Amino acid sequence: MRQVYLDYSATTPVKKEVLDAMLPYFSEFYGNPSSLYAIAGEPKEALAKARKQVADLIGAGEKEITFTSCGTEADNWAVMGAADALKNKGNHIITTKIEHHAMLHSCEFLEKHGYEVTYLDVDSEGLVDPAALEAAITDKTILISIMFVNNEVGTVEPIKELAAIAKKHNILFHTDAVQALGNMEIDVKELGVDMMSMSAHKIYGPKGIGALYIRKGVRISNYMHGGAQENKKRAGTENTAGIVGFGKAAELARIHLQEHIQHTSSLRDYLIQQVQEQIDHVYVNGSREHRHPGNANLTFEFIEGEAMLLYLDMNGIAVSTGSACSSASLTPSHVLSAMGVPVERIHGTLRLTVGDMTTKEDIDYVVSTLKNVVNKLREISSVSSKKGW
Ligand SMILES: *Cc1c(COP(=O)(O)O)cnc(C)c1O
Repeated sequence: MRQVYLDYSATTPVKKEVLDAMLPYFSEFYGNPSSLYAIAGEPKEALAKARKQVADLIGAGEKEITFTSCGTEADNWAVMGAADALKNKGNHIITTKIEHHAMLHSCEFLEKHGYEVTYLDVDSEGLVDPAALEAAITDKTILISIMFVNNEVGTVEPIKELAAIAKKHNILFHTDAVQALGNMEIDVKELGVDMMSMSAHKIYGPKGIGALYIRKGVRISNYMHGGAQENKKRAGTENTAGIVGFGKAAELARIHLQEHIQHTSSLRDYLIQQVQEQIDHVYVNGSREHRHPGNANLTFEFIEGEAMLLYLDMNGIAVSTGSACSSASLTPSHVLSAMGVPVERIHGTLRLTVGDMTTKEDIDYVVSTLKNVVNKLREISSVSSKKGW
């Protein structure tokens, strides 16, 4: 049976070049980069090289990159670190209703500890209104955190404009760029952001390694406490192999960026076009214009996304309903809810995300399988409603 993976926004396979770069750092160059003897030299140099590779992908300086254990840790650190460092200045944080849970749950934690959080609304495409951001600022606001690209619907936020508002009011600006990295041009200097979260496993690197960009001159409190690693900013023996893998993945992402965008966006557009041509009552969620190149978020009216997901899985196709984090529960997606999508429609929504290994044949197989499952499920639901089940 054909296997088709259409969940690249959940994670990506590690590319061969990335794995090859990592392997020597498990057993050949195993030294602790903090040690002073000669065998620590190679790992130490490898960290420096990877830091430059990640910095180069986003137009940052090497000293502005600190490695973390994942994107989630980078998000936690940015908000907790800013909240602690600026607690004498204020206790108000502004974010949005559509953030990843790494940010939302961190903010909810801070609310239990005396901080106040404003969760901005979004419009029907998932876009944040810059005027609403400016209106939410108070003299107690210490941090604004708005994601670059939404992981469920793929909407790209106007980060440059939003960061300029923060700067005008002298407030720190953080963005979760985990879904943006490797999928669009990013230049932190041009964007004007103070902090930015990244993760390797969404760009064909390994799981368990991320980074936080912290603009030179910005001071936040540490989140991990211990040794003097990462220029005393993030304690814990470095995940050398993971960092090397992240560096290689970042280098490949930079070199092949245009090719990657072209490949994924053309297959994504083909997928949407075929689905709309062959299946009735389908809606595309999110912005058409400001969108992640690989994201298709589709609502199939009158059916359950969970049932579709299981049927597709039986046919070797991996997709997601809403986001991977909420797929274990039946609570409707917080992102689609914030966009005003009615609950019945949210339940009929699938997220299909294409990537570098996706082919046109994969898409054709997925569309024909989708067509079968939608017809079947709609038949069942119309029979059951006629019989009054
Ligand atoms: C995947 C993801 C994260 C979490 O990154 P991990 O490295 O898996 O912890 C955070 N934010 C967004 C937008 C993501 O897509």
